[in-house]
Amino acid sequence: MGKRLVLATRNRGKISEIKALVSGMGLDCLSMDDLDTLPEVVEDGQTFLDNALKKAKEISEATGLMAMADDSGLEVDALGGAPGVYSARFARPGASDQENNIKLLAEMEGVPRSKRTARFRCVIVVYHPSGRWIHADGTCEGEITFEPRGDHGFGYDPLFFLPGLGKTMAELSPDEKNAVSHRGKALVQLKERLPDFIREVEEA
Ligand code: IMP
Repeated sequence: MGKRLVLATRNRGKISEIKALVSGMGLDCLSMDDLDTLPEVVEDGQTFLDNALKKAKEISEATGLMAMADDSGLEVDALGGAPGVYSARFARPGASDQENNIKLLAEMEGVPRSKRTARFRCVIVVYHPSGRWIHADGTCEGEITFEPRGDHGFGYDPLFFLPGLGKTMAELSPDEKNAVSHRGKALVQLKERLPDFIREVEEA
C-alpha cells in the first residue's frame, strides 16, 4: 500500500476528478466516506484559500493523514466579485443550483453583455500532518449569459459562457470541461508539485 491521502470532500464529482489526477503517483486515496466520524468543517473563511486550508488542516489533524481539500466559486465583475466564497449559498443557506442561478440572473438584470465578465476560481490545498502545506490556484474566464444553456456539469455551468469555445460550461463534455476549467488547471499545477512536496516532507 502506498502513502495515504484523504480527500476532504464528499462531492462524488470532485473525488473522481482528483482520483484520476493522483493515479500513478503511488498514493492510496481515501475519501471522507471511507473513514469513521470526521468533523464537519464550517466554511467561514473570507477567501477560497482560507476555506481550502481550513478543510485540509482539520481533516489532516483528525485523521493523522495527508489531506487534500479544494474550495471554488464564481466571481462576477458587475457584482463586485460576488458570489465568491458564498457561491454555494448565494440564494440562501442550502440553496439548490437552480435557486442560485435564478438569483444570479435577477442580480444581473439590465447589465449589458460587455459588462457581464466573470471567472470561476478554484484553490486546492494539500496539508501534511507535520503542518507543512502547498496550494495551487486555477481560474477560468467567461461571461454570464442571459439565460441557461446546456445540461452537463453542475452549479453555475449553464450560465457561464466561454467566448473562445462559443459554448456554456454546461454544453461541454466532462473531458472538455476538465481541459479548460479552474479545477482542472489547479489540479494540473498540483500534480507537477506534489511529488517534490511529498519527498520534502518525508525527508524533513
Ligand atoms: P465548493 O467548492 O464545493 O464550496 O463549491 C462552491 C460553489 O461554487 C458550488 O456549489 C457551485 O455553486 C460553484 N462552483 C464551483 N465550481 C463550479 C463549477 O465547476 N461549475 C459551476 N459552479 C461551480
